[in-house]
Order: sequence, then C-alpha cells, then structure tokens
Amino acid sequence: MTTPVKGTLYTVSAPSGAGKTSLVKALTEQDPNVTVSVSHTTRAMRPGEVDGVNYHFVDRAEFESMLERGDFLEQARVFDNLYGTSRAWVEQTLAEGTDVILEIDWQGAQQVRHLIPETVGIFILPPSRETLRERLTGRGQDPDSVIDARMAQAVSEMIHYVEADFLVVNDDFNEALSELKAIVTARRLGAASQQQRHAALLQELLGSAG
Ligand code: GDP
Ligand code: ADP
Ligand code: 5GP
Repeated sequence: MTTPVKGTLYTVSAPSGAGKTSLVKALTEQDPNVTVSVSHTTRAMRPGEVDGVNYHFVDRAEFESMLERGDFLEQARVFDNLYGTSRAWVEQTLAEGTDVILEIDWQGAQQVRHLIPETVGIFILPPSRETLRERLTGRGQDPDSVIDARMAQAVSEMIHYVEADFLVVNDDFNEALSELKAIVTARRLGAASQQQRHAALLQELLGSAG
C-alpha cells in the first residue's frame, strides 16, 4: 500500500526559444502526475495562444492589483512585460500530491528557491546560438525586433544555468524529453519521498516479527 506524497515543485528556465514550452508540454502529456502552472502576464497574446491555457493575459492594472493582494508566489519583469505565478494554485496543486512545473525566468526561479528550498531547478540550453536564433525565427510568432531583443537577452538568462540543479541540452527533442523524465523519476525515487510513499511497507518490513 502506498501513501500519497506532497508534490514536488520544479522550475524550468531557459533562454527564449530553447524549447522549454515544447518539452514541458510533452512531459505533462506523458506523465499525468506532473502539471504546469499557467502564469499571468501583461505581454500581448501571440497568434494561436489562448487565454487561460498558455497564460492568463491581464492588463497592467490587474497585474498590479494582484501583486498588491499578495496573489503571486513570484513575479518578474522580462522583456518589459510582467509575469507572475499564482500562489494559491501552486500551493493547492502540490498539496493534492501533483508535481508542479513553473516555466519561469531566472529571477523568478531565485525567488521560488528562497521561499521553498526543496524546489528542483532545471535549466534548458540550446545546442548552439545559431540554433537558438533559428528556433526563435522558425516558431514564426514574434516580429524580427522581438527576436533580436530575445537573442540579446539570451546570454544574461543563460549565465544563470549555474543556479540550477539539473542541465538539459535540447538538441534532439526526444533525448531531451527522456532526460527531463529521468529527473522527475529520480526525484520520486529519493529516500524522503519513498519513505512517505511506502510508509506501510516499511512498517511491515521493519516492524517486530509477528
Ligand atoms: P518564450 O519563453 O519565448 O515562449 O516567451 P514568453 O513570453 O512565454 O516568456 C518570456 C520569459 O518569461 C521566459 O524567460 C519565461 O520563462 C518567463 N516567464 C514566463 N512566465 C513567468 C512567470 O510566471 N514568472 C517569471 N518570473 N517568469 C516567467
Ligand atoms: P521556449 O518556450 O523556450 O521559448 P519553444 O518550446 O516555444 O521554446 O520552442 C521554440 C521553437 O523551437 C518551437 O518552434 C519548437 O517547435 C522548436 N523546438 C523545440 N525543441 C526543438 C528541438 N529539439 N529540435 C528542433 N526544434 C525544436
Ligand atoms: P473561470 O472563471 O472559469 O475560472 O475562468 C474562465 C476563463 O478565464 C478561463 O479561460 C480561465 O483560465 C481564465 N482565467 C482564470 N483566471 C484568470 C485571470 O486571472 N486572468 C485572466 N485573464 N484569465 C483568467
């Protein structure tokens, strides 16, 4: 018999275009016990994005009133837009025993790590600078000026790879996905989680002989 264990919180950070959204989407589709937090943002919606699915798209006034109410677990300004993670949703989902992924920038990852030290930090790197630009362009959703700005910001995001617990290079997509899955599996097999999950088994194995 197994006992439900509180979910693990992951942050996934990467420069824009490295593939974090695609990788996290594939992971959550294959593993029902992992889910991704839908952030609030003031950035404009891209073609094909859906409010409440990709982001909760809010205006600056709404974002600021949420901030004043303390609704955000973390928040940051990235590329002149504001992004934030809903505190209540994350806390409730973890309490239900589901693992939660936050796709957030390095500033947000730092805030979360300070608040919740057991957070697992993952950093996704592109296989080269050239590939990063090709992916940003190939995604076909941002104008050239936005792509240039994101390329210019890429190094200042990537230098924070040292703060993560795990690094994944997203060259071959399926290989990177397997590596992400391995991180989640390794974490679930950690002694602290297994001790809770298999409390009844441990008691049966170690209890006085009957
Ligand atoms: P994309 O990463 O190129 O798809 O572009 P986005 O506009 O979706 O995200 C831009 C940056 O904002 C990325 O570095 C994200 O990790 C970051 N980001 C998204 N949501 C949040 C959030 O809730 N909090 C923080 N701190 N960063 C976020
Ligand atoms: P991010 O969320 O980090 O900005 P996306 O997940 O939107 O990145 O990926 C950027 C683009 O690169 C998308 O068009 C995606 O389909 C593509 N992509 C992601 N990973 C790979 C990969 N391993 N090989 C080729 N293309 C990829
Ligand atoms: P509901 O009221 O059923 O929770 O949400 C209705 C729709 O609004 C859904 O698409 C949901 O994801 C989205 N939504 C929920 N919260 C917010 C929010 O704070 N801001 C915005 N813009 N959309 C939200």
